[in-house]
Amino acid sequence: MPEHIAVADKKAEKAAYEGNKLTKRLRHHVGDAINDFNMIEAGDRVMVCLSGGKDSFALLDILLGLQKSAPIDFSIVAVNLDQKQPGFPEHVLPAYLESIGVEYRIVEEDTYSIVKRVIPEGKTTCSLCSRLRRGVLYRVAEELGATKIALGHHRDDMLHTLFLNMFYGGKLKSMPPKLVSDNGKHMVIRPLAYCREKDLERYAELRAFPIIPCNLCGSQPNLQRQVVKEMVNDWDKRFPGRVETMFTAMQNVVPSHLADAKLFDFAGLKVGDALAEGDTAFDKEEFTDPRPLDEDGKPRRAFSILDSRAKENACGG
Ligand code: SF4
Repeated sequence: MPEHIAVADKKAEKAAYEGNKLTKRLRHHVGDAINDFNMIEAGDRVMVCLSGGKDSFALLDILLGLQKSAPIDFSIVAVNLDQKQPGFPEHVLPAYLESIGVEYRIVEEDTYSIVKRVIPEGKTTCSLCSRLRRGVLYRVAEELGATKIALGHHRDDMLHTLFLNMFYGGKLKSMPPKLVSDNGKHMVIRPLAYCREKDLERYAELRAFPIIPCNLCGSQPNLQRQVVKEMVNDWDKRFPGRVETMFTAMQNVVPSHLADAKLFDFAGLKVGDALAEGDTAFDKEEFTDPRPLDEDGKPRRAFSILDSRAKENACGG
């Protein structure tokens, strides 16, 4: 066999192997999130909100895959809200949804004109736009008899929101994997809660989803979110593992070691009370890696926060 064909075969084999590994990893993460938060139960009708972006395509695709192998029966209906943004390619999603044979509903509601009319030129329109969209989606969920509303937010979105709330909102709060809708009538779930954005990007390429660009509305991106995203991405490059550790931290909250008197009864604390956690202020700065083993079963390692300081200095940070 000519050498260039053998090299091409090897590359294709490697790409197929990597694609398979990625698919398994994402399915695993979604399955784990569904189990950990009891997101989907037998008999549920799950309304998957499909915006046309990579995350919602991946969400629908992975849920459809899991539905086939799940030990429980649940149904899926995909919903897209056509907000009448100029240039929205309205044929793309129906064609895709027909091709995969899933039940779907396209809802046409001109929220774009409302937003344009109400928000002064040059101001960020996202907050009103999302509020209007949410209202329509809740209404549609009711019409469709959906018991769960699935959104495509992933782990990075959750982390970014955590920092946004800390930096600009003065709150230690993120996007929960599961919550009751603000009208109190629906359960909203985020099955991609454990998925990394870069995995979803690669998955979208692998599956060749017909992605619709998200800037059709012409809105300026939220600068604060952009800043936080760049900060987290920069950490991810310079300190591999930090993002995973931060996400694990969101699942290991110790109210007795924060300062919210509404969460922990500091006033009633007495000598002799059992502590959930020692006073780590006096512990040496060395931790056991709290991240779970990855799918390759890589062993946990002990690391010191001084490790990252050394790297920071080396990078001039
Ligand atoms: S980017 Fe545009 S479509 Fe998306 S939420 Fe903001 S205003 Fe709405």
